[in-house]
This record gives sequence, structure tokens and C-alpha cells, in this order.
Amino acid sequence: MKVLIIEDDQATVEMVALAFEFRWPEATLVSTAKGAEGAELVEKESPDVVVLDLGLPDVDGMDVLREIRQFSDVPVIILTGRTEESAIVRGLEWGADDYVTKPFDAMVLLARVKNVLRRTQMPELRGDQGRIAGDRLFIDLAARRVTVDGNPVALTATEWKLLSELVRNEGRVVSQERLAERLWGENAVEVASTIRSYIARLRTKLGDHPQAPKIILTEYGSGYRFVRPK
Ligand code: CA
Repeated sequence: MKVLIIEDDQATVEMVALAFEFRWPEATLVSTAKGAEGAELVEKESPDVVVLDLGLPDVDGMDVLREIRQFSDVPVIILTGRTEESAIVRGLEWGADDYVTKPFDAMVLLARVKNVLRRTQMPELRGDQGRIAGDRLFIDLAARRVTVDGNPVALTATEWKLLSELVRNEGRVVSQERLAERLWGENAVEVASTIRSYIARLRTKLGDHPQAPKIILTEYGSGYRFVRPK
């Protein structure tokens, strides 16, 4: 469990950190006071949940949210002193999963986080489903583990979503529209070139051939297909 806190008020950061450590002692916390660093940290750290303040000194929290939603559907909980309904509605419309207003109760925040995680986490995998063991490539979706020649491969949150969607549909074509929806939500504006570059990065990380792939195949005009490696 990794938590990213984007908040400039140190006392609030400490209170949120304490709350998480109380409920999830193994949680790792990453925080920044700068909105400009927020999206960057989402990409770099692949947090399981983001707590986002709206009143940040450099960039408005709403803009940070919008930036995050361009590439990630990590659960985001807005923590804000703004209580106007319009600000809250806008936050939810732009893809926040929930909000808590300040002054806040740590137990309420934790309850909201638990709810959001329950709503957004993938359904449990059964038995061997999601386990791929080839000569060189090993994938275990449930354990969130990928290795190539025994070396662990680090994937970003977006790459994980992409890979799990493809592996879950092993042998079948997954359309670009479906992948875009999985990555950026129902209202995603599908951008074929963006998906193509994510696929290219994923192939490189999995040791697949970029020009003549054997694991993630391109089905021209329709989408991508995951083939179990030998
Ligand atoms: Ca603030």
C-alpha cells in the first residue's frame, strides 16, 4: 500500500500520515507540497491512492487532478478547505473518487479511503488465472509481479492496467477503445498514438521484440492481443 499526499500544510500531512499508519502499518507514504510535482509522482511512484489538497501554493489542485487523469485512474480523494458545492462537484466531475472537507476527522478519511479502494480494486483472480510462466517471462497479476530472465520488472500503474487487461483477455483481441476506457475511464477520449506508445514501452519492458512482437501482437485497425510466450 503506497499513499501519495499532495498537500502544502505540514500539520495536515502529518495527520493524514498518522491516520494511514494507524490503519495500514505497512503503508509507504510519499508527500509533496508542490502541485507541479503531483502528477510526476503518480507516474514515478505508482501509488495505490492519492490524497489531494486543492489549495496548493503553485498550481490549483483541480489542475493537478486533471493532469493525473490524463494517464492514470489511481483513486484520488480530495481533501479540501473549500466547502462550496460547486468546487466539490467539479472535482468529482473531473475524476476524483471522493472528497473530505477540512477540518477533517481521521476516521472519516480512512473510511472514505477504504470505500474507494473497495470500489476501484480489480476483482479477485481465481487460482492460476493471471499467471503466465514462459521460458523467459513470468507474470503473476495477483501478486503484481513480472520478471524477465528472473529479474524483476518495474511497471508504472498505467502499464499494469494495460498488461492486466491484455492478460485477462489472453488470446483475444482487446480494442483500443476498451484499453482507453480501462486506462482513463468511461469518458476517455481514445488516443491511438498514446496507447501505441504505452504498448511499445510495455513490449520493451517484457523483452518482446518492438518490430516483430511475439507476446503483445498488434491487430491492425482493431487492437492488441496477448499471446502466451513459450
Ligand atoms: Ca493548502
